[in-house]
Formats: sequence, structure tokens, C-alpha cells
Amino acid sequence: MLAEIITIGDELLIGQVIDTNSAFIAKELNKIGVSVYQITSVQDDKNHILTAFKDAESRVDIIIITGGLGPTKDDITKKTISEYFNDTLVLDESVLKNIENIWKQHLRQTLLQVNKDQALVPSKAKVLMNIHGTAPGMWLEKGEKVFVSLPGVPYEMKALIQSEVLPKLTRKYHLPFILHKTLLVYGLGESTLADKIESWEDALPSFVKLAYLPDLGRVRLRLSAKGFDKEKITLEVQKQIDAVLPLIKDHFVGFEDEDGAVESIIAKQLTALGQTLAVAESCTGGKIAERFTSHAGASNYFKGSVVSYATDSKIKVLGVSKDIIEDNSVVSYQVAEAMAKQVLQLFNSDYAIATTGNAGPTKGDSAAEVGTVFIAIATKTEVYSEKFMLGNHRAKVINKAVNKAFEMLLK
Ligand code: ATP
Ligand code: MG
Repeated sequence: MLAEIITIGDELLIGQVIDTNSAFIAKELNKIGVSVYQITSVQDDKNHILTAFKDAESRVDIIIITGGLGPTKDDITKKTISEYFNDTLVLDESVLKNIENIWKQHLRQTLLQVNKDQALVPSKAKVLMNIHGTAPGMWLEKGEKVFVSLPGVPYEMKALIQSEVLPKLTRKYHLPFILHKTLLVYGLGESTLADKIESWEDALPSFVKLAYLPDLGRVRLRLSAKGFDKEKITLEVQKQIDAVLPLIKDHFVGFEDEDGAVESIIAKQLTALGQTLAVAESCTGGKIAERFTSHAGASNYFKGSVVSYATDSKIKVLGVSKDIIEDNSVVSYQVAEAMAKQVLQLFNSDYAIATTGNAGPTKGDSAAEVGTVFIAIATKTEVYSEKFMLGNHRAKVINKAVNKAFEMLLK
């Protein structure tokens, strides 16, 4: 089964908005066994859009479109789809109700005609109700081919893909069951890992595929299996996981969550134990806190974070002693440990993480080499720290440091 993704909007073609919608959709389609043949971004221009539809239809079975469904004049996707299908726009009462509800919830001003017009849909379309926004998704069929039009706003699009589009595609095309399990492996390079599990990998049954996805100090090991016998697939994948775990035991930290986040594993462990965490961040600038708090339920375990970036703030805000900094340099084991201990006390948490480092590009305040990062973990009774050399690319150093912090906490 083949699909194409067409994202619509001038903003995509001038580099103002990065097309993250396609990446998300491609990933989700892959999970249900639909391969993406091509991804195209087009301007808000009728003829360009019509050409993109025609080209895609000539090549694939499923065409997923995002963007251009808003109330403003530049949003022309709906009209263009209607024209492509030789259709007319008709008012959908359920969509109008949804729009009125959203208006009420957000206490907006009077509903304008352009807003009501968002309830107009091609008569041949099945509406995919968008509870998060005013632009409905639409599902249209042409013979065996499917066109799906979705709002451009990422979270609205994502919700519709998961709740409506994937189940409908699975039913329509009798797609096989696909299972992915991703093991998070830390502290082993890709080739060392491959070497350790070579004989296990060679013995995998043909319907179980393995992929190595290395990034920033970890390898994600993805097992995928596909077929129509759901039970058989589930059992086989579990059997293979049981067989590989002893080979990587010290380096396996957990499974990638549905949302792909190692912090979710930490979150689950802390929540289950009823324990709490606080963070003191220097070189990671709040990224660790951001990763935790981007997931619902963070208040169950996450007490807070201090971004003490300047040396002065480590002293004045966190209460790290000036002597420790002067005696050891601000980028040091000692300062990382002091930061962790201070923030643990400040928030009265069970665990604390602290980072201090030099992400570059220049040496800055400290004498430390670019890429040097110290991370400390403190509990009420212990503190320990590690030193890392994470390269010379600023963004990478920061992101690797965040991953290293998670890795240390998981251990
Ligand atoms: P709305 O009703 O909000 O106007 P819409 O369907 O018209 O929805 P657009 O106006 O095309 O959507 O896009 C709304 C916002 O969604 C854009 O400003 C942009 O930030 C984001 N967006 C649109 N398309 C994409 C995309 N392909 N990838 C990532 N973000 C996108
Ligand atoms: Mg738009």
C-alpha cells in the first residue's frame, strides 16, 4: 500500500514553518504498513494544488493532505478539493455545532460568517471531527483511492491521524497487524552493540526485522514484526526480547514509550515509587525540565528546576559555596555535585540532577575544554557525578548532556 503526503502553505515554501507534519504522518503510516512514496509541499495556489493531487493520484492509493483549511482567504484547500472532485460545498451541521462549542469554550467574540463557513464541506466528503479546532478533517474516496485532508495545526492533525485516519485506513485496506518494540540501549556504540547481539540477530525469524537507530549517545534498537496473526506476532516479539535482554543487560534502560521518550520511563518509575525530582541546570539551560514537563502528569514527581546559568546565580540562587567554585572551576565534579545537593534541599526532593559544562563554541567563563560536561545525581544520602566529553557542536553537546542525565538517573 502506497501513500503520498501533500502539505500546503506558502509558509512552508519560504522556510518560515518547517514541515514537521509530513514526518509525523510518514512515521504513523509506516507503523501500519503503508509506505510513503513521496512528500510534496505546495503553495496556497489552486493550480499547483490541483497538479499535486493529480500527480499523486496517478502514483499511489492514499493521499494525505495537511494545511490550508483555515477561515482566511489564503486557505484554499477545501475549495480546491471540491473542484477536484467536481463537487460543491454544503453546510455540515455537526461541524457548525463543534465550531460554536469551541467559540464558547474560548469566550471568543461573535462568530463571523468566515468562521461559520468552516462548516462547509464537499458533499462527497465524510467529516473527520476536529474537537481541538474549527477546521474539520475530510475523507474522500475516488474508486479505491482515498484523499484525506487535515488541518495544518500539528496537534489537531496528530489527533485526527490517530483517532480517525489510521483506524479507517486499516479497515478499508485490511492492513496487516504490525508491532514495533524499541529497546533503549545506552552507553554502547552501534558496532559494539551489533557485535554483542550478532548470534541472536542472525537467528531472528524472517518476519521479525531489526533496526539500529543510533543518536546522541544511545542506540534505539527497533524490532518490527508484521502479519495477520496478531497473537503469534506478539508472542514471537516477546520471546525475542526475552532472549536479547541478557546480552545487553547493563545497557538496557527500558522500552521507548509510545511518545518516544526516555523521560517517560523515569516518570513512571518515580510516580510508582511516590518519589520526586528536582533539577539544577547550567549548560542544559532548562532542557531537562522541559523534557519532563512536556508530558502530562509531571506534577506527580517533578518538583521544579533552577536554571542557574551564570556563575553568580549558582552562588546566589542555588547557594553553592563560592569557595567550591573558586577552588575547582565552575565546570567541575565538585560544582555539579554541590548544585545537585543544593537543589535537592531547596525543593526537598528525593532525587536531583545537576548539569554544568561548556557547550562552546568558545571557552567562556571556565577553563574547561569545549564539550566538557559534568552531571551529578543526588539523593538524600548520596551524590555522585560523571564527566563527559561531548564534542564541539553546541546544540549537540546540550542534547547529549540531557540524554546522559537521563541515562545516569535510570541507572
Ligand atoms: P487553521 O484553521 O488554524 O488556519 P489550517 O488548516 O488552515 O488551520 P494552516 O493555516 O495551513 O492550517 O496552518 C496553521 C499553522 O499550522 C501554521 O501557522 C503552522 O504553524 C502550522 N503548520 C501548517 N502546516 C504545517 C506543516 N506541514 N508542518 C508543521 N506545521 C505546520
Ligand atoms: Mg493557512
